[in-house]
Amino acid sequence: MRGARFETSSDVVRWLQSEAAGLWPALLGSLSFRRSPCVRENCPACKSGEQHPSYVLYGRQKGRRVAVYVPEELVPEVQRGLDNGRALQELLHQAAPRYVKALKRERTKARKSKKS
Ligand SMILES: [Zn+2]
Repeated sequence: MRGARFETSSDVVRWLQSEAAGLWPALLGSLSFRRSPCVRENCPACKSGEQHPSYVLYGRQKGRRVAVYVPEELVPEVQRGLDNGRALQELLHQAAPRYVKALKRERTKARKSKKS
């Protein structure tokens, strides 16, 4: 394996593609848990203060915040997507300096070979 110090920009792209391959679906947003009252009169859950648990996904569409109700049985799947999204974001952050460093090394090499 080539060390990160000597990798080329296409090595970085290949690394990024292979790392990202296992991260789908990748989602960004936040999943929140809340308890809210219902509209029924004399509801035991509401009376006891327990209320009704539900999950809501907050995301953005065209710059506007949107909230989508998430049924409890879909929570693990949505959570996995959000974990993937964070991992992918972390990966893209790591990729940026590595890619730029590789481009700079390639530029230096290209200049040297032009002179000789
Ligand atoms: Zn209720």
